[in-house]
Amino acid sequence: MNIPQEIQFILSEIQKSGFEAYVVGGSVRDFLLEKKPKDWDITTNAKPEEIQKIFPKSFYNNTFGTVTVVNKNTEDESLKNIEITTYRIDEGYSDRRHPDKVKFTPNLSEDLARRDFTINAMALKIKGNDFEIVDLFNGKDDLEKKIIRAVGDADKRFSEDALRMLRAVRFSSQLGFEIDKNTFEAMQKNSGLLKFVSQERIRDEFEKIILSDKAYEGVELLRTSGLLTYIVPELEKGIGVDQNKHHTYTIYEHCALSLKHCPSKKLEVRLASLFHDIAKPQTKAGTGPDSTFYNHDFVGAKFARKILTRLKFSNKIIDKATLLVKNHMFYYNVDEVSEAGVRRLIKRTGKENLKDLMDLRIADRLGSGVPKAKPYKLRHLEYLIEKVSKDPISAKMLKINGQDIMKILNVKPGPKIGAILKVLLSEIIENPENNTKEYLEKRIKELYKLSSEEIKNSEKIIEEKKEEEDLEDKKKFWVK
Ligand code: ATP
Ligand code: MG
Repeated sequence: MNIPQEIQFILSEIQKSGFEAYVVGGSVRDFLLEKKPKDWDITTNAKPEEIQKIFPKSFYNNTFGTVTVVNKNTEDESLKNIEITTYRIDEGYSDRRHPDKVKFTPNLSEDLARRDFTINAMALKIKGNDFEIVDLFNGKDDLEKKIIRAVGDADKRFSEDALRMLRAVRFSSQLGFEIDKNTFEAMQKNSGLLKFVSQERIRDEFEKIILSDKAYEGVELLRTSGLLTYIVPELEKGIGVDQNKHHTYTIYEHCALSLKHCPSKKLEVRLASLFHDIAKPQTKAGTGPDSTFYNHDFVGAKFARKILTRLKFSNKIIDKATLLVKNHMFYYNVDEVSEAGVRRLIKRTGKENLKDLMDLRIADRLGSGVPKAKPYKLRHLEYLIEKVSKDPISAKMLKINGQDIMKILNVKPGPKIGAILKVLLSEIIENPENNTKEYLEKRIKELYKLSSEEIKNSEKIIEEKKEEEDLEDKKKFWVK
């Protein structure tokens, strides 16, 4: 029996005091699937104060009616905090979010009946050296058949708490299970109720879907159930919208398939794969095989930021995913891309994001139905990145710093120093061979003679010229 000692101990201590005690919910499901549960939930007919008497060092959380036993002597995360809850029923969901009242009950059966899916509604009890499963809703059968089925009347259960519909999709994509037909029809009927659910709760489930092995299938289920309308309606704008002669798939299909083929397990890269072409419907010009999508990368970055902010993702995830969407159109044809172009790419995206940008490109290509991700091209770019990575790309890599400039000019700190550094960096990115003390000293003296305004302008001129060059590169690519 693979129930951890810590759990067996808690169950037997509660039983010794004359109460019932079971492992319950997701942990029983995972145990039967021979997966390691994220956490072990224990349920009992003992009331919180009675549980606390058995475990004097435990903590009682009044809001959730949960007693937590803390295990200091374990490295195993799933065993550090073990939650014990008293059998309960949820009474009424008038705000469609939270049960109005949580009421304790002496019956395990009532506690199991309030749970969302049959596979999540089993309890496990230790019996001597063995265990016994309480399975009132045929959860074991559904687990074997790989089916997600609501406990009781699906329609009623989803109208009580609409998040359950999203959880159905989440468990389906995490476990690779099918959603039962009747349960799925109830989702289609009730999908509109998701608008009553908080963005945070939606985000948590959406994130799990995106990170799961069957993320593509999950997004498809969101679409076919109608839930997608209440999560990312922007994606639906691309449904049935053809692209052009370079693409076999519609915009929506391509977005979903890019997620499917995303080689990265990182949330921000997966989100960027799904959203990279999100603004194509709005930027489409012309019809038929010659349609174009100018600027869809920039507009898409704005959309991605808006969507992820609305879903309350962390700033780190929002910034990274947005940066990737914004820069996904980088051009990298062998022989055509200059080393300075690669340096600018690195400056724009940051060295630490290049691997993610490559992964996004692989997702994009595979999601277009291109049989291979043209590895030789990517390898060539990787070679160039490696080659130029010793070149100055941030001011830190210049052979001269702000202190040196002040010394050379014999002046105090001021905005002019920073402006000069910026000009030097822009110049050296184009011609790294000039990154020598002698050359930089000469340029510093020349630049210092200019007014602050003129110095700023000279950087702007270089940057604008380069932006134009990059834009020309991109135009060849934007049509796609
Ligand atoms: P995970 O492995 O992701 O933790 P889980 O099944 O344990 O999955 P939790 O959110 O931890 O999911 O919830 C624990 C249990 O509580 C579930 O297995 C289910 O029995 C019940 N449950 C959770 N949320 C709901 C809900 N919204 N409606 C009904 N029952 C729920
Ligand atoms: Mg859990």
